[in-house]
Amino acid sequence: MPNTHLRADRVEADFDRLLSAAGDGLVVASNRQPYRHDYGDDGEVTVDRPAGGLTAGLDEVMRRVDGTWIAWGDGEADAAVVDGDDTVAVPPDGDAGGTYTLRRLWLDGDEVQGYYYELSNQVLWPLCHAALATVESCGDAWADYRRVNEQFADAMAAAATDADGDPLVWLHDYHLALAPRQLRERAGAGPTLAHTWHIPWPSWDTFRACPNRDALLDGLLGNDLLVFHVPRYCENFLRSADRGLDGAAVDVDAGTVEYRGRTTTVRAAPMGVPADRIREQAGSAEAAGFRAAFRKNRGIDRDTRLAVGVDRLDYTKGVVQRLDAFERLFADNPRYRGELTFVQIGTESRSAIPAYADYQERVEAAVDRVNDRFATDDWRPVVYTTDMISNEGLAGLYREADLGVVSPVRDGMNLVAQEYVAAGADDPGVLVLSDQAGVHDTLGEWAVSVRPHDTNGFAAALDDALSMPERERRRRANALADGIEDDDLDSWLADVLSAVAGVASADGGVPTRADH
Ligand code: UDP
Repeated sequence: MPNTHLRADRVEADFDRLLSAAGDGLVVASNRQPYRHDYGDDGEVTVDRPAGGLTAGLDEVMRRVDGTWIAWGDGEADAAVVDGDDTVAVPPDGDAGGTYTLRRLWLDGDEVQGYYYELSNQVLWPLCHAALATVESCGDAWADYRRVNEQFADAMAAAATDADGDPLVWLHDYHLALAPRQLRERAGAGPTLAHTWHIPWPSWDTFRACPNRDALLDGLLGNDLLVFHVPRYCENFLRSADRGLDGAAVDVDAGTVEYRGRTTTVRAAPMGVPADRIREQAGSAEAAGFRAAFRKNRGIDRDTRLAVGVDRLDYTKGVVQRLDAFERLFADNPRYRGELTFVQIGTESRSAIPAYADYQERVEAAVDRVNDRFATDDWRPVVYTTDMISNEGLAGLYREADLGVVSPVRDGMNLVAQEYVAAGADDPGVLVLSDQAGVHDTLGEWAVSVRPHDTNGFAAALDDALSMPERERRRRANALADGIEDDDLDSWLADVLSAVAGVASADGGVPTRADH
């Protein structure tokens, strides 16, 4: 395993110092924008704000440095509120926290289809999650992906030129794999380019199926720093570069690739959640109200134990396999009938893609099957909803649940598992966690591990978790809570910025938080 892991002792995140060491200003590029403008029912402009997680965390960083964020303007009123340069200051009510510049890019219908729905989400997403049978053929989509990446590169180059000096340009995710090289061609060696890849990187044996594999590797090696969530993905990327690119000098142990005259450093930094905020939300009056109303409205008795799953409805999330396991649990252990309800929150996602529409139907069919088999007049084994639930409501449900069940068949990291832990109270529940999630690398020791396709083993693990003595539950919950507090979202941001500062510095050393 390469020496690519960045974890270090917790220190207070000193963003201002890290940011100034990382570059002269900050430019962020991501597919999704932090603020979206739409029209309300009466025609007035409304603003959708970052609800939590990475976008909210980065938003705070951007406000400190008055940076530029480049993203696809997909809101109905987005074009109406920008100036002649397609920019708008955000947050719109700029308070004491400061504002920054949101630069919007406009994509036409064909580009959205080719770049977003086809190449990003029907080629790269399944490929990186090792679901080769789900990868679709791509024809013109590749040209759309390249063109949209060029639009991002143009906008990033303009923002880098406007900066006083050489800024840090921070790219996000698999939608922008070509943009680093394209930006390099436009902006030269000046800006420091860092790219966080939020999904897995597959083994070479899987990645070699990628129709445009050379161009993707070449694109990403325009970066100075490439960050994955866990060391395994770093190693997979390094080996892919080694096998896939002529002329690449790869040092797997050092985590570096020399290619086309420059060095890309590859590091792992497991992303965390804003643990303090989630704990506060879980303890709020709104959360308590939501929990009580949820039970009442869904016909769940006050004394019925709860297991909860929260997922975007994506075929990587393992919801169908999870329902198979609950069916087996109720079949083999009649004592849970009438005593336990499994609540699955499944938010609709990418429904325009047939594989997602099919998946939604499969989940509904599995829910109906389990309920038809076991439900009684006053109890349902599964409560399933696709309703949008507020952050407080979710945190309330997490706190209420005896089990948090997170069982993706493959997942880059997974934030829900960490949110469940963060929301835990004095009488904590048990985290049941798939060994296929990136976060299993950090939380697996204290969770109850499952293999999502092993229905019998999964059902037995659910039984173990439900029967766990209180002392053991507390011991595990405390260890998990310590872990996610130490490695929270701020720590992750600090880790990435530390690594950037390292590659941006003359000696190229990569300091960790322990060095400060
Ligand atoms: N989420 C939410 N409402 C829902 C379902 C999910 O707010 O109904 C949030 C969840 O709290 C988490 C994120 O969406 O912060 C999902 O992140 P994760 O890494 O678990 O999976 P992803 O969807 O990014 O693949």
